[in-house]
Amino acid sequence: MGLFQQPAKLSYLAWAVVLSLQAPALSGPAIHDAPQRADGDDYRVARRTMLERDLRPRGIKDQRVLAAMDAVPRHLFVPEHLRGSAYADRPLPIGEGQTISQPYIVARMSELLALKATDSVLEIGTGSGYQTAVLASLSASVSSIELLPSLSERAKKVLDGLGYKNIETKIGDGFFGWEERAPFDAILVTAAAPKIPEPLWRQLREGGRLVMPLGEERKLQRLIRARKSAGQPVIEDFSEVLFVPLRGAIQKRSR
Ligand code: SAH
Repeated sequence: MGLFQQPAKLSYLAWAVVLSLQAPALSGPAIHDAPQRADGDDYRVARRTMLERDLRPRGIKDQRVLAAMDAVPRHLFVPEHLRGSAYADRPLPIGEGQTISQPYIVARMSELLALKATDSVLEIGTGSGYQTAVLASLSASVSSIELLPSLSERAKKVLDGLGYKNIETKIGDGFFGWEERAPFDAILVTAAAPKIPEPLWRQLREGGRLVMPLGEERKLQRLIRARKSAGQPVIEDFSEVLFVPLRGAIQKRSR
């Protein structure tokens, strides 16, 4: 199973997820049922529907994030046979047991990073490369690390094909960050860990933001934002989520 967003009992965010999972018919036409031609124009309509149905009503307000979600062709990041579902309100499998995150979660995490056009961003867990593309639309540069070579290579091909010049990808264990590119203004981890990996914290600039799901595998985790203030984390807690675990070194360390 891949990346998954699970409802919480109390938070507004999670209720929005519950409602959309249980009653998709109430929240608008099912995009994946609509006939789609393979050209960009038809998917533009699907993207606009995603914005108005799944993002704005749940509180995504940042205009730059909304514009990025409107612009990035999500259908190119999913396997070809799932393109018709690319703008549906859920994660989708991308191979290797991993998933592309639900559009709402991509938008939410991007918004929490509060990116400026001059920011340098580190992403851990490239996956399909979709979130990478959204971050690249909002910042000066994105360095993205993926553990699984096949996913990293495929993501790179799609991102290169789309002409992104401000993305650098590498295969490796994101636990250690990317020392040569540090410090970063913002760090996004798209897999869950019981604590913030220490090397990532060190590579975050003073005043920088780190957003990640904090918690154990197969348990509900909290989506948090940690701001570096005088070297110390100031942590805000947003909602319950369920992500795949960060693999590699961190699993050995927390045993
Ligand atoms: N953001 C991606 C989805 C990420 S799923 C998208 O929207 O497509 C989480 C990803 O983290 C998976 O691709 C998984 O292989 C990767 N991952 C897990 N542990 C990792 C680690 N230690 N370093 C780098 N990537 C890791």
